[in-house]
Amino acid sequence: MKKILDPDKETWAAILKRPTQSYASLEPLVAKIFTEIADEGDLAVKKYTKEFDKADLSRLEVDQSAIDHAKDTLSVELKNAIELAKSNIEAFHASQQVLPKKIETAKGVICWQEKRAIEKVGLYIPGGTAPLFSTILMLAVPANIAGCEEVVMCTPCDAEGNIHPAVLYTADLCGIKKIFKVGGIQAIAAMTFGTESIPQVYKIFGPGNQYVTVAKQMAMKFGVTIDLPAGPSELLVYADDSANASFMAADLLSQAEHGVDSQVVLVCRSMEKLGEIEKELDEQLKKLPRKDIATKAIENSKLIYCSSEKDAIDLINLYAPEHLILSTTDNARIIPMIKNAGSVFVGNYSPESAGDYASGTNHTLPTNGYARNFSGVNLEAFQKTVSFQEISKEGLVQIGTAIELMAEAEGLFAHKNAVTLRLDSISDNTKN
Ligand code: NAD
Repeated sequence: MKKILDPDKETWAAILKRPTQSYASLEPLVAKIFTEIADEGDLAVKKYTKEFDKADLSRLEVDQSAIDHAKDTLSVELKNAIELAKSNIEAFHASQQVLPKKIETAKGVICWQEKRAIEKVGLYIPGGTAPLFSTILMLAVPANIAGCEEVVMCTPCDAEGNIHPAVLYTADLCGIKKIFKVGGIQAIAAMTFGTESIPQVYKIFGPGNQYVTVAKQMAMKFGVTIDLPAGPSELLVYADDSANASFMAADLLSQAEHGVDSQVVLVCRSMEKLGEIEKELDEQLKKLPRKDIATKAIENSKLIYCSSEKDAIDLINLYAPEHLILSTTDNARIIPMIKNAGSVFVGNYSPESAGDYASGTNHTLPTNGYARNFSGVNLEAFQKTVSFQEISKEGLVQIGTAIELMAEAEGLFAHKNAVTLRLDSISDNTKN
């Protein structure tokens, strides 16, 4: 773990560089798999599932018997925990509903917007190194609230073609009817083009490793939209003397254990606290079952001491972390200064894991600096906004001349004519 004291501004970008693989290097592989799946459908999906996930599948869709078995296998305690998380996620996302608001921009000119659900959505649930059933709640709950008509789910299976029972239980709880045991590039390509078994969708959601992230970007070339680039997880902890070192170390490790390409950063205003957190990190790391993964991620991570608050905040905004924990004496004063972050956890008792599972906020968030220009998944991501207008005769008289003048100035006479004809008819009617 690299310790850096009051780094010069010129070095910040290099210090904060993400350890992710260059996406350009993966593009040829992704393009090849996309072409094959577009041409050969299920056959190519099965071929790549065998190559990357070692599973020889005769059928891609999950059988009802596997779902029934999952329901019987899961403990009541875990089922209750999933239901509690689902209900908090529902409450938070339902509160994001926006009611149409009609505005009269000029007398007789009424404009408004209404939300419409995206009809067909694809949910990618990562499963390479951990069965992220919590991601199903994060995607299926807002899809259901939005009213998406067709929800397709893809997730990798193990070499025997099995999917973790908690994944199947959660998908069933969320009412997902089409579950496929396909992961990685092949899942994203299948949902982009549609195959004999896997339906084509209009928008693909969900986090994943670098293969999935590049595949989602490729999908956009074929007219499918995506939620956001949500790649390897990251966390930045901003701490001062008031931070609880053991809690902060646990939080840093909670993201480091996601994958070897995860990155965690500590920005600390106190040298003494930085030392305490470093010591805690070493001790807690040794006890983790996923310590091999976490150790590699921690090697890419940085402990940065900043004596100046302004530098610390500028550095956070430059990094634009997916997750940010604020553990300072004055969090309320710091909050308005945070410009770029996916999701912020305020105070010693707001662990990042709470947002991962059960507080209600969404855990599908922008990584790799995209928090500068992307929001995390929310209800709106499953909707489109349709604009409406209703103009009365009086309204058209109010704005008609302006439209005619502007259309003429742009040389678009048919546009002008569409107004002139109406204005003339209104004027004739008035005379009669
Ligand atoms: P995954 O499902 O994303 O990827 C597994 C798939 O990768 C496999 O099915 C396989 O088909 C493919 N693959 C593996 N090696 C390959 C290779 N050499 N060539 C081509 N394809 C290959 O699961 P994962 O690997 O566990 O990754 C999950 C990721 O999601 C982690 O990086 C985690 O940090 C991230 N994540 C991000 C968020 C977020 O909101 N940003 C949330 C949760 C998880």
